[in-house]
Amino acid sequence: MKYFGAHVSAAGGVENAPLNARKIGAGAFALFTKNQRQWVAAPLTPAQIDSFKANCAENGYRPFQILPHDSYLINLGHPDAAGLQKSRQAFGDEMKRCELLGLDRLNFHPGSSLKEISDEACLALIAESINLALEATSGMTAVIENTAGQGSNLGWRFEHLAYIIDRVQDKSRVGICIDTCHAYSAGYDLRTAAACEATFAELDRVVGLKYLKGMHLNDDLKAQGSRVDRHAPLGEGTLGIETFKYIAADPRFDDMPLILETPDESRWPDEIAQLYAFAGQPGPGK
Ligand SMILES: [Zn+2]
Ligand SMILES: [Zn+2]
Repeated sequence: MKYFGAHVSAAGGVENAPLNARKIGAGAFALFTKNQRQWVAAPLTPAQIDSFKANCAENGYRPFQILPHDSYLINLGHPDAAGLQKSRQAFGDEMKRCELLGLDRLNFHPGSSLKEISDEACLALIAESINLALEATSGMTAVIENTAGQGSNLGWRFEHLAYIIDRVQDKSRVGICIDTCHAYSAGYDLRTAAACEATFAELDRVVGLKYLKGMHLNDDLKAQGSRVDRHAPLGEGTLGIETFKYIAADPRFDDMPLILETPDESRWPDEIAQLYAFAGQPGPGK
């Protein structure tokens, strides 16, 4: 089964996210469990947690259909000790929030060397950060997202993801999320079925598709290899619609959250319906 959705708003409280997902005909959703631009947040209240769980259950969202995303401020490979400590603390807190909400995975951007340390040193710090977060939680999988490689952000090469996973102690609780826009901006071709075939074969060889715990489905405003992260509506960017037809029809992407982060929210219901049509599957509640 395919589960398509979008990164929906949790304004007013996390319990609103599943309701917002249902309104757009989504079978999956992503959310921030706290304000993504602030370091600290009020703890989740028992009432909020109960209400989130009830709204998910009533609308048919199980944990494997939900892909929470961490704060953009966190850098798990921060080159200086104070910055690293602050990020690890915040990441640990986000993992705990997800665990309290009954979720099973947290999606995050690996980190940035800020050009102060080597890529290898930064990737090793990221792996250590993941180990610390996994030790402090149970039942949560740390899901590393590939990046476009903008600035000194790591994780744009599949080898970076493999390097991190190699150093994670509990391999059963680490995963990856592939963003189609990021992969293309990082240089991986996904424009045609043949290109998708080759890129996903490379991903399988270098990292292993068994680690795939979700995807971000975005078209790209920039050119292949641009190393710039700018999402476009499906079919209106440099990737084109074939990429999304391919993913929708391929069973290797079944049973995981497939999330739109496309720029025009008003188009999400149509984009989601189109993806379900490509998959030959009725959307939820249809
Ligand atoms: Zn993404
Ligand atoms: Zn992006």
